[in-house]
Amino acid sequence: MSINEQSYAYGASKSSIREIAAYGAARKAQIGAEGVFDFSLGNPSIPSPDAVRESIERSLRLPPAQLHGYTPAPGLPFVRERLAASLCRRHGEGAATAGDLYLTCGAAASLSISLHAVVNPGDEVIVIAPYFPEYRVWVEAAGAACVEAMADPETFQIDAEAVRDAITPRTKAVVINSPNNPVGSVYSAQNLAALADVLREREGALGTAIYLVADEPYREISYGVEVPWVPAAYDRTLVCYSYSKSLSLPGERIGWVLVPPTNPDHDRLVPAVAGAGRSLGFVCAPALFQRVVADCCDVPADVEAYARNREALTRGLSELGYRYIEPQGAFYLWVKALEPDANAFFERAKALELLPVPSDSFGCTGWVRVGYCVSYETIVNSMPAWRKLAESYR
Ligand code: PLP
Repeated sequence: MSINEQSYAYGASKSSIREIAAYGAARKAQIGAEGVFDFSLGNPSIPSPDAVRESIERSLRLPPAQLHGYTPAPGLPFVRERLAASLCRRHGEGAATAGDLYLTCGAAASLSISLHAVVNPGDEVIVIAPYFPEYRVWVEAAGAACVEAMADPETFQIDAEAVRDAITPRTKAVVINSPNNPVGSVYSAQNLAALADVLREREGALGTAIYLVADEPYREISYGVEVPWVPAAYDRTLVCYSYSKSLSLPGERIGWVLVPPTNPDHDRLVPAVAGAGRSLGFVCAPALFQRVVADCCDVPADVEAYARNREALTRGLSELGYRYIEPQGAFYLWVKALEPDANAFFERAKALELLPVPSDSFGCTGWVRVGYCVSYETIVNSMPAWRKLAESYR
């Protein structure tokens, strides 16, 4: 039987994050939910703001044909206008117009569309390791090779020199993600400027165009640090956004791609984004949730609850002697494994009902990711198990 082997391979092998989450669910059914400390998934535990429910209730009063009908492929015009106005208020006049936005089923679709819009077969796309594992799938499905450039091993900011070393004449794009999953770092303005300098210098030397794809589902979730606007640092940027985390709506699948007006290839990229959406079948994002994000795009994310979890987790783990990267954003803690093999460390954790994700699936050895978008009680109640795990190495 001749089928697409690449698609078969992606479907037949689960992501390790999902495998651990499935194990966690089965284990909870066996021994009770309170006995299992599942830190695997990035599924927000905080309810959506009330404004989301109010917006849905208002929309439900619309005539059904209007409420449930097809929208234009890139989204409803009034929705794109409101989102563009919000971006201009936050990032300055001229940050976006309605025509620069393409609404999507979340950041996953935004990334796939952006990559399909710029990549040709045989191109290379650089990702900053450690990275969200699906990047490799989306890059390869767009026909490019996925090339890893390690982040700075101390700060986990972008190592601009490592990116320089990874660039070849075939490099078409660099994907960055700040606030970062899995590390929790937020790239500073200086760090982005250093990356932008390298990209411009290499573009000039090689006579190529290199796009920066900024994946920003965690933009609203930061802890007292500024999250710089990437198009201000580098013109040839596309921004991918999602409301999965900021409004706790991951199951509703809503986000957007922005081709900023300052992008020098803007006039060809806007149709290329629309064309990528068309060819992938990613048109006309969920109509009800287009209306919801138009109503709620300026509602602040409930960062307080994550900040409280972050504080409890970092305080608890540092008292037990664990080393970790101080998270500046998102809701993940990057913890140094207590032995070089993160998978072996994970197995010991698992035997104590602790379920972090080993770093190997993020393209890096020796760490685990602890997702703290769980309940506060899960974090507090997990501490005896973290203690036992540390003691088992003494
Ligand atoms: N990019 C990163 C870094 C993520 O962590 C996630 C989801 O966890 C996504 C993209 C996909 O987000 P969405 O649910 O909006 O498709």
